[in-house]
Amino acid sequence: MTGFSSERDRMIERQIVGRGLVDSRVIEAMRAVPRECFVPEAVRGAAYQDGPLPIGASQTISQPYIVALMVEAAEIRPGDRVLEVGAGSGYAAAVMSRLAGEVDAIERHGALADEASERLARLGFGNVRVHAGDGTLGLPERAPFDAILSAAGGPEVPETLRRQLRVGGRLIMPVGSRRGDQVLVKVLRRDADRFDTLPLGPVSFVPLIGAMGWRDDESEPV
Ligand code: SAM
Repeated sequence: MTGFSSERDRMIERQIVGRGLVDSRVIEAMRAVPRECFVPEAVRGAAYQDGPLPIGASQTISQPYIVALMVEAAEIRPGDRVLEVGAGSGYAAAVMSRLAGEVDAIERHGALADEASERLARLGFGNVRVHAGDGTLGLPERAPFDAILSAAGGPEVPETLRRQLRVGGRLIMPVGSRRGDQVLVKVLRRDADRFDTLPLGPVSFVPLIGAMGWRDDESEPV
């Protein structure tokens, strides 16, 4: 799609570089993905605004800065195998696909997963696979992963996801309350049983709903 490249450049300069993100590979990946193609027609004109946007099923595409922050923190290298929990529109998976070897992305809403899968194929992001299901269980048949990102916030980092990280791998996810008062954390797998956890800062995400996350209808963890 044409017509949005100056908005995209402005978004990169003001929202990404202007806030101190410096990884040139991440910046180029953000420049290469047409965010306007990942949002509903009705909000396309707002595609490069500095915030999340609705994508249907009461879910959102994350703020561009937050996508860049998480992807930079994940230190994705060429050839890496990446898992995203919470594929939503497929936008963050598309950004990561420019940096990684392969991306698997899981989405619990089947309709969003189907749309994201069709969109990514149409736009030529051939190294992304979208799966419908509960991402708190990870994707054991595709593990281990060099990087795991969760685009939804849980009460804690699911043990299932930690165990699907390769030694040396990085996991980035929001942890905290169900209602969007969370801390973004980075988990590093040092060896088979040693994990270090670093806080990256306060964030506000939709809840991670699933067997190792929040219940579908209550505020307590499963
Ligand atoms: N990364 C997405 C994008 O680029 O559009 C934004 C994702 S949105 C902030 C979070 C997504 O996580 C929602 O689409 C939600 O349905 C999904 N989600 C929540 N819990 C999940 C789970 N257990 N497994 C898979 N997806 C989940």
